[in-house]
Amino acid sequence: MKPTLQRLFLCAAICASPAAFAIPTLVQDVRLFDGKATHAHRSVLFDRGLIVDADFKGAAPAGSRVVNGAGRTLLPGLIDAHTHAFRAQELPVLFGVTTQIDMFSDVAMMQKAKQEMAQGGNHAHADLFSAGTLVTVPHGHGTQFGLAIPTITGPEQAQSFVDARIAEGSDFIKIVMESGYGFPSLDLATAKAVIEAAHRRGKLAVVHIGNEKDARAVLEAGADGLVHLFPGTSADAGGLAALARSKNAFVIPTFTVLESMAGWRGDDLLANPAFASLLDKDGQAPLKARFANTAQPDRLLAPKAVAKAMLDAGAPLLAGTDAGNPGTQYGASMHRELAALVDAGLTPAQALAAATSVPAQVFKLGRRGRIEKGYKADLLLVDGDPTADIRATRRIVEVWKDGASANGLRDAQRQQVAKTVEQGGKALALPRDGRISEFSTQQLASPFGMGWGPSTDSFVGGKSSVVLAAGPALADGQVPLAIAAKVAPGLPFAWAGVAFMPGKAPMQATDLSAAKVVRFRARGDGKTYQLIAMSEGVRIPAAKSFAATPEWTEVSIPFSALKGLDPTAVTMLGFNAGPQPGDYRFEIADVRLLAE
Ligand SMILES: [Zn+2]
Repeated sequence: MKPTLQRLFLCAAICASPAAFAIPTLVQDVRLFDGKATHAHRSVLFDRGLIVDADFKGAAPAGSRVVNGAGRTLLPGLIDAHTHAFRAQELPVLFGVTTQIDMFSDVAMMQKAKQEMAQGGNHAHADLFSAGTLVTVPHGHGTQFGLAIPTITGPEQAQSFVDARIAEGSDFIKIVMESGYGFPSLDLATAKAVIEAAHRRGKLAVVHIGNEKDARAVLEAGADGLVHLFPGTSADAGGLAALARSKNAFVIPTFTVLESMAGWRGDDLLANPAFASLLDKDGQAPLKARFANTAQPDRLLAPKAVAKAMLDAGAPLLAGTDAGNPGTQYGASMHRELAALVDAGLTPAQALAAATSVPAQVFKLGRRGRIEKGYKADLLLVDGDPTADIRATRRIVEVWKDGASANGLRDAQRQQVAKTVEQGGKALALPRDGRISEFSTQQLASPFGMGWGPSTDSFVGGKSSVVLAAGPALADGQVPLAIAAKVAPGLPFAWAGVAFMPGKAPMQATDLSAAKVVRFRARGDGKTYQLIAMSEGVRIPAAKSFAATPEWTEVSIPFSALKGLDPTAVTMLGFNAGPQPGDYRFEIADVRLLAE
């Protein structure tokens, strides 16, 4: 065949990328979980990105690579049915997640990912199917992440809104019904109109709900699936499951993020050296974070009961992590989600199906999620038998994406992480006296970092305001900072105050582990204030209250009292008024970070 110009270009693109190097591969004498059923002894041949034979007999074809499968299990690459794939696109494949179903992220990112998939050679990244922009009301849940997104206000806009999402490339429509956290929520009539508008275009309409009442309402309204379950201690699990079954609806429980919301972790993925070795400090930070600072494992009782009832009723359950949120990490968290599904009552094989064939079928993802002739060669080889012990999925031997081994990517990542560990561990050396407040009437200086500045809820849409004023000096020469705050009603977590950023750039993480205590002096109007602290990967700050009485008082708050804070990756300390609306006035002086 004459090589056309187009062919040469294609070869140049594929051959230039070492990750794309794919040869016929035979995984021999392996236990096979094909997405639905387990076969004790099989050999699987794949080539050019596709499964050639899922039950290969005979001698290995000439020129093929043979992988010993003895004592091992071959699975379809995992499908995470609930992620927000706006960053760390390199991670999923390293952990065996070869497809992500994205429930809201940046439209430009989605379009770029789709382009990569269409061009082929997308071996280093998981394939992406995405809702694109979610459907929410102005200031509703989904608008708080700093991404300017279109919103909807009534049923009459439903069809044009849905059509605009489809035009942008949305594979399905994701609706937010969230009345918690003080956000305004979409009303049921609009949600129903959006569901119908999506169905008119042949698209699935899935819904984020935060409670049982909304779950029932959207299922009644025709939603195809719930993309979360809700935290709680009890629920009418049987009733909800029967309703889902009667409506042919599926559920993605997202135990990983529910555990984060319950401030409780089923297990620690970072305790597994094979996982920790693939994640640098930034990569580990989200797994150390969580939404809630106090453990309330009882809040997992309702979602566990509902998941079990769904299973018993025959409603499809899908494995999804909600990666992108505190307490989760792309790829890695799928292995926790699988174990959580088993904890909730699924057999290991049912959990594996929930992460492979079931999402592929429910979301109509084409020929993936199964190991059958003609299906994509997205594969995960693990040691042991995950159909008996689900935690065997963590013993990853090799991952293939579109038939290309991810061994090179995994090795490179491990080397990169090892290098940063060698260089790392350098806690910032604190000033001798620990003082970080170098206030004068001219400026709010600091010995390191971005330093001091006003901080209010305005950047998440709040209306609070603050005025900072330094001076005059106290008897010991220290210049205090007066903070006059107006906390506006509207947000449940409204605040206004002053923030100290230790990094060279805004919210850059800094290792402050040389300090154990924040000590400062405070006085004020007698109200209660909050010292807050944030570390990388955390969206809900750790907080400890202090009183500002009319007399100067010394306040010492150990880092250990700031639950959930990672002292090795601090992004911000804040001294805040709120959340109750009102006028506040307090002063701080002589702020120190001490090793004590
Ligand atoms: Zn989500």
